[in-house]
Amino acid sequence: MKPERTVSLGPSEADLDQAAALLRDGHLVAFPTETVYGLGGNALLGNAVAGIYAAKGRPSFNPLIAHVSSKEAAQDLVHWSGLAEPLADAFWPGPLTLVLPLKEGHGVSGLVTAGLDTLAVRVPGHPTARRLLEKVAAPVAAPSANPSGRISPTTAAHVMAGLDGRIAAVVDDGPCAVGLESTIVGLAGPDPMLLRPGGVATEEIEAALGMPLVQRNAADPLTAPGQMLSHYAPDAPVRLNASIRSGDEVLLGFGAMDCDLNLSPTGDVTEAAANLFEFLHRLDGRGRPIAIAPIPQHGLGLAINDRLRRAAAPRDSGVTGAS
Ligand code: AMP
Ligand code: MG
Repeated sequence: MKPERTVSLGPSEADLDQAAALLRDGHLVAFPTETVYGLGGNALLGNAVAGIYAAKGRPSFNPLIAHVSSKEAAQDLVHWSGLAEPLADAFWPGPLTLVLPLKEGHGVSGLVTAGLDTLAVRVPGHPTARRLLEKVAAPVAAPSANPSGRISPTTAAHVMAGLDGRIAAVVDDGPCAVGLESTIVGLAGPDPMLLRPGGVATEEIEAALGMPLVQRNAADPLTAPGQMLSHYAPDAPVRLNASIRSGDEVLLGFGAMDCDLNLSPTGDVTEAAANLFEFLHRLDGRGRPIAIAPIPQHGLGLAINDRLRRAAAPRDSGVTGAS
């Protein structure tokens, strides 16, 4: 990836305006939340989300949390529910993430949800994060602002130590209140489910809901869609490293070639990552086997190939399950 100068900004109005403009335009900006510094990218722009993975050097795609400034902003993206309401009223802004079914016309890049039809959303409690999100006026995907495999950053200096030259800016507003990760509650299935324990205690959530949370048991079969973190895989059989169609296959291409859809005609792995899930969904909709061109094993090509290997694995092998 191209090195860039990482600008250090503060929490002033002028600086947050600049940070918001950068995010709106698809640049990456790290900012403080009450948990850790997040690496923000505009969730509506596939290239920005691909940039998050590239900057972190993540070798695989997993769904990201969309950060928004208000409950109303969340309701624009997901199907709201009678259970979401008391939780949002009690814990937003704050370290609670809700997983809900995506609404039609949501506009969120498929790379944010890693192809799932549910979205994890949260209104962070850190005042600077919220002011920034209000100014961006778009959902911001923001995993922790550290290179993959390194510890989560709780100061802007940690962020710079890992990501200087890989992101457009960092908003420095002092150390995070070394919190826990956000608690994640799944509300896309029949019963509310604890998907990840975190900053808001389970008992508090159950009190606000007036009912118990189903505990996620790793040994449970994947029954309820949206409840477990299962990874998206196409229904159609998938064949990898294909250069031409065979039989009635549709061909997903990469680089200059004759195909049905092309992840990146110029052979850019970041562009290919941005298009990956949307294009798989589109081809899957044609009800024919999917052949996929070889993707080079560099940069985001590693994460793409990791996902494609799972998509192509025999369905009873267990390789397609959550990772
Ligand atoms: P982090 O950004 O590090 O706080 O991690 C985000 C967490 O949210 C990961 O554990 C994801 O697996 C989880 N997550 C994000 N989206 C979904 C979703 N649609 N369904 C279930 N879990 C999700
Ligand atoms: Mg992390």
